[in-house]
Amino acid sequence: MNRFATLLAATLVATQLQACGRAGTVPTADSPRDLGPLSAASFKNHQPVVSMSYSDRGQLSKLAELGMEIWYVDKAAHKVFGQITPEQLAGVKALGLDPREVTRPGLRNSFDNGYHTYEQVKAELEALAAKYPTLAKVEDIGDSWEKTKGKANHDILALHISTGDASTKPALLYCGNHHAREIVTPEMVLKLAHVLLEGHGTDPELTGYVENRDLYLIPMVNPDGHTLAEKGNDWRKNTNITTGGGTQLSGGPNGPGVDLNRNYGFHWGTGGASTEPTSATFRGPAPFSEPEVQAIKGLVERRPFTFLMTYHSFSNLILWPWGYQNAPPPDKRLPAIGMQLGKLSGYTPEQSIDLYQTSGDTTDWAFGARNVLAYTTEIGTWGDGFDPPFSKVETFWKQNEPGARLLLNLAANPAWTFGTPVQAATSRNGEIEVSLPAGARAAEAFIGREGKDGTGIKLAVAGAKAHLTLGAKGGKQLVLVHAQDANGQWGPTKALFN
Ligand SMILES: [Zn+2]
Repeated sequence: MNRFATLLAATLVATQLQACGRAGTVPTADSPRDLGPLSAASFKNHQPVVSMSYSDRGQLSKLAELGMEIWYVDKAAHKVFGQITPEQLAGVKALGLDPREVTRPGLRNSFDNGYHTYEQVKAELEALAAKYPTLAKVEDIGDSWEKTKGKANHDILALHISTGDASTKPALLYCGNHHAREIVTPEMVLKLAHVLLEGHGTDPELTGYVENRDLYLIPMVNPDGHTLAEKGNDWRKNTNITTGGGTQLSGGPNGPGVDLNRNYGFHWGTGGASTEPTSATFRGPAPFSEPEVQAIKGLVERRPFTFLMTYHSFSNLILWPWGYQNAPPPDKRLPAIGMQLGKLSGYTPEQSIDLYQTSGDTTDWAFGARNVLAYTTEIGTWGDGFDPPFSKVETFWKQNEPGARLLLNLAANPAWTFGTPVQAATSRNGEIEVSLPAGARAAEAFIGREGKDGTGIKLAVAGAKAHLTLGAKGGKQLVLVHAQDANGQWGPTKALFN
C-alpha cells in the first residue's frame, strides 16, 4: 500500500472508531485496517488475517477451541483479530460471527540477521558457560521431538546460573519460544543471561541475584519449530507429524504439530484448545505427550520454584493463571506482582482468562500443580507481529528487563510486593545511609544474603533516614537493606557494596 492509501485507510478507521464512540482510540500505522468482508477468494493465495466483533468472552473461547489462532483482542472495542483457515470458517460463522479481512500485522516471514538460530543459541550458552565457569553451566534438560525420532540433534538447553549449594536458594525459570515463530522471545532470555553474568561482581543487585538464586534460563523450548522459523516459515507448534496432522512440514500454524502451550497436564483439554491436529492450538493426543513439555515438567519438578516467566509474542500483555477457569487464583501475590510487571513493562496486566479461555498452558500447570508464581509476557504490538526487525530487540528488552529483575528480587519473599521499596541506599566509609519511604517503622540490613523479615541487623531510624555503621570493607561486602512500612509490611531489598 502506498503512503496515501495508508493515510486514507487510517482516516477511515479513525472515522469508524469515532462513530462507535471511541474517539479516544488513536489509530496508528500499526493498527489493523479493514479490507472488507471475508470471502472464499480471500483464501486463494494466502491465509487472511481477520477481525470480528464479538459480544461475549465465551465466543472467544469457542474460537480457540475451533483452532483459530487468536492474536489480539481489543476488549474495549469487542473485536478479536487472528487467522482462520477455510475449514474453520463455517464453524466461526456458526457462532454468529462475521469475519472481515484486515491488513496483516508486521508479518514479514523474515528472520533478520541478529536473531539467534538454534545453533547460535547453543553456541552462545556454551560460550557464556566457558567464560563464567564458576557461575554458569549448560544443562541439557531433554530432547526435542525430532531428536527422539533420530531426525535432528536438538536438545532443550538451559543455562543454569548458580553458585555453591543452591538447593535452599529461591529458584526461578525464564523461558522463551514455546511457539516457534515468536523469535524475539529467545533474545529476551539471552539478554537476561548476559546482564546477570556481566553484572556479577560490579553491580551489587545483579551480584546478589547470581549468588543468592538458583536460575534456569531456557531461550528455546521449541528448537525443531524454531529451525523452520529461521527459514522464514510461519511456524507455531512443534514438528510432531505423527499426530494425524499430515506428513509434510507445511501449512505453517495450521500444519502438523502440537501446540506446546496447550499440552501441559493441568486441566488439560478443558476448553480453549483444539482437538484437531491441523489446528494452531492442537492440544496433542494426551497431556504431556510432547518431549519438549516433558523436559520443562522434569525441570520444574526437580525442586520448588518460586517464579516462572514464559515469553511469547505479541500483544503487549502480562498474563497469569487461571486460563482454564473463570475464578481468581487462590494467591493474592500472583495478581499483585502481575500488576507490578504491567506497570514496569507498560503492557496490559490481566488474569489469562479475562482475555479468553485456554487450557494446558505452561502457567496454569506451573501454578496449579507446582505452586510456582507463573507469568506469560506477550511482547510487541500488532505492528511488530511475530518477526519485527532485529533492531526492535533492544526496545523489547528495555520494556522487559525491569520485570525480569523484579522477579529476581521478590524471589526471596514474594510478599514484598505488598511493601514499599526504600528510596535510596549508600555506603561511604562503612557508613550505610538509607532513605526510607514515608512512615516507615523500621529498616534492617543483611550481609551477603537475605534472611527472614525482621532477622537482619537493625538500622537506627531517624525520620525519613536510617543509619548503620558497618566499617569500610573496600567495596567487597554485599549489603541488602529494606524497610518495614507504616502498615508493618517489609518491602523489597536494595543492594549495595560496602
Ligand atoms: Zn506464543
